[in-house]
Amino acid sequence: MAIKTPITIAYGDGIGPEIMQATLAILSAANALIEPEVIEIGEKIYRQGFTCGIPDDAWQTLKRTKVLLKGPITTPQGGGYKSLNVTLRKTLSLFANVRPCISYAPYVTTNFPDINLVIVRENEEDTYSGIEHRQTDEVYQCLKLITRPGCERIIHYAFEYAQKFNRKKVTCLSKDNIMKMTDGLFHRLFNEIAAEYPDIEHDHMIVDIGTALIAAQPQRFDVIVTLNLYGDIISDVAAQVAGSVGLAGSANIGAHMAMFEAIHGSAPDIAGKNIANPSGLLNAAIQMLVHINQPETAALIENAWLKTLEDGIHTGDIYSSQSKQKVGTQAFAAAVIERLGQKPTHFKPVVYQPGSYAKIECYDAPLATPSKKELIGIDIFIDNPNNIPAEQLAKTLAPLSEKLQLIVITSRGLKIWPNSSIEAPFLRHCCCRFQSSADTKQLKQIQHEDILQLLSKINTLGLDVIKTENLYTFDGELGFTLAQGQ
Ligand code: NAD
Repeated sequence: MAIKTPITIAYGDGIGPEIMQATLAILSAANALIEPEVIEIGEKIYRQGFTCGIPDDAWQTLKRTKVLLKGPITTPQGGGYKSLNVTLRKTLSLFANVRPCISYAPYVTTNFPDINLVIVRENEEDTYSGIEHRQTDEVYQCLKLITRPGCERIIHYAFEYAQKFNRKKVTCLSKDNIMKMTDGLFHRLFNEIAAEYPDIEHDHMIVDIGTALIAAQPQRFDVIVTLNLYGDIISDVAAQVAGSVGLAGSANIGAHMAMFEAIHGSAPDIAGKNIANPSGLLNAAIQMLVHINQPETAALIENAWLKTLEDGIHTGDIYSSQSKQKVGTQAFAAAVIERLGQKPTHFKPVVYQPGSYAKIECYDAPLATPSKKELIGIDIFIDNPNNIPAEQLAKTLAPLSEKLQLIVITSRGLKIWPNSSIEAPFLRHCCCRFQSSADTKQLKQIQHEDILQLLSKINTLGLDVIKTENLYTFDGELGFTLAQGQ
């Protein structure tokens, strides 16, 4: 007897149970070799006091099966509840979010009949680390953390994906014209890694023009790789222009675990009415079958689903003049089951070669040779509610240390001392940069002790230091940006 792959199933909230029932019925009729193990997560579990929406025993099931097919979850508002999706992605280290985005014209209304792109979004880093602070009455900050291994892993994954799925081009989106260090690292590594895949074209766009082009000319994209926040935004733009928000599935892939789900939410407005479209979850399940190396079953189901669309059998959300019959959730599933074994005639039938798509090997970056890291200064952020002018601050602070010179005072990254021509600087949040030398070529290493002495003196002056950031050089290169106007 063929061995079945254990799969964790979470029905989810709202329309989750009905679309999961429809999806599992199709998988079962297609003889998918899976052994479902059901866990309860989501709204009910939140209400029981689990702030992340998942009970302890569910983790055990997940860690055993390593694959989760998940219905949408309703995150209760307020009350300190954490997004279950973010918790799952981070706890299970699901570093790649893979969202194919395809138009199904003329059966699904879209202005762009030729979209067939895949967004590979970094899933664990960026501003989504959720490290935020309120520093003063008026100022809040969110930390954007980008790691070299994180970038390398997602970029490698995008190229490996392109290679396995016979894609021709990978486009990188970043904002490195502004964020030269974080996004700059991503872009630089993209260029380096692209060179390892000479058969795949590559290009880079600044994310703003890239997003505009996804909205205006989505057919020009193939695989897109990008950072977490940009990926989140462009995924919805792409799904919207393809008209496939209710149809698209997504995969969250880690080195050892994977989670598959529809891109839409729990749609509480239509829950329990048997009218929801199960296609998003079904497409996620198809991605899952490819991932667990059951490509023939994946193709069997996808072709039957495409044929159902072509035959005009549609749920209410995509019902149009091209439709022939409006059906509910379970009747749609029955129509797909009836067509198992049939091929679409308008759409190109899908073929997944056996064996060739099994889990993409996840790149594990070797430890880079450590650079020579030298402490050469410090940025000291001050809450300055009384608007002490920068000139006066400089006069007070400059003589405090023999080892550290006050180089520049900035506000929100803009130089306000020395020689500032800013008419009305925002003084209530300033950053005083101290370095071992004003000349960046003459920087000498200092000790943490030097910084502590300086901070102690500033403290005695009654100034409120709200944050410090050490300044380092790495193999002599500055590990920080210069202020605007510096
Ligand atoms: P939503 O995607 O649930 O609904 C938006 C609109 O699309 C609604 O009108 C809904 O009826 C419709 N819709 C969604 N899926 C459909 C389907 N399969 N068939 C037919 N119509 C469909 O987005 P929302 O209303 O912003 O969010 C509702 C809840 O879902 C919120 O609690 C949100 O936090 C949650 N959510 C969960 C996930 C997830 O679990 N991955 C993702 C997004 C939103």
